[in-house]
Amino acid sequence: MSKSQIIILFGRSGCGKGTQAKLLIKDFGFEYLGSGALLRERIAKKDFTGKKLKEVLDQGVLVPTPIMFRIWSEKVEEMRENIKKNGIILDGSPRTLPEAELMDHAFEWYGWENIKVVLLDISEQEAFDRLTNRRICKECGQIIPWTADFRGMKVCNSCGGELITRDDDKPEAIRERLSYFKKDVQPAIDYYKEQGRLIKIDGDKSIEDVYHEVKKVIQ
Ligand SMILES: [Zn+2]
Repeated sequence: MSKSQIIILFGRSGCGKGTQAKLLIKDFGFEYLGSGALLRERIAKKDFTGKKLKEVLDQGVLVPTPIMFRIWSEKVEEMRENIKKNGIILDGSPRTLPEAELMDHAFEWYGWENIKVVLLDISEQEAFDRLTNRRICKECGQIIPWTADFRGMKVCNSCGGELITRDDDKPEAIRERLSYFKKDVQPAIDYYKEQGRLIKIDGDKSIEDVYHEVKKVIQ
């Protein structure tokens, strides 16, 4: 495996990105950089941007590109100074075409050339079905995906807790998230595709089969 890769993971909500990222982290020592965690970390600073971010996120509004990009590039700078891992998995960035272009400039600046762009492809309908049916453990918060392996599960397999549906998994909220993907994220994906950089993996397969394909990409 070549040194210090960057894996940009794309896919509709429910495609299993999180699961695949965890496997890569465990098996190959990648570092995870998720935009959600990044924003929460920034909010915790409680300065102007921190407070404003909280407001914006509570309203469900997209964080503007210049702000998101600044937070993101500060983190990448920090990682660049201190590379301990085999690479970084980006989950949730870029969210738009302008961000994809900015990120390319940033990677060039930081001298990162080994960048893989992976799309875990599931259809809009499949995403909708998975999201409306997935459950979360009331006790420990573990998410139980709506895929063949987990459909029959009655209680949480790590703590025995009750399984419930989340509020943000309600149909209207899910339609919103999926339309965001189509409108904002898809142009970023097309940007990589036009350059011949997009690696598309069928996300309808089992976790194991998808992971098999993902591993081929990074090796
Ligand atoms: Zn649990």
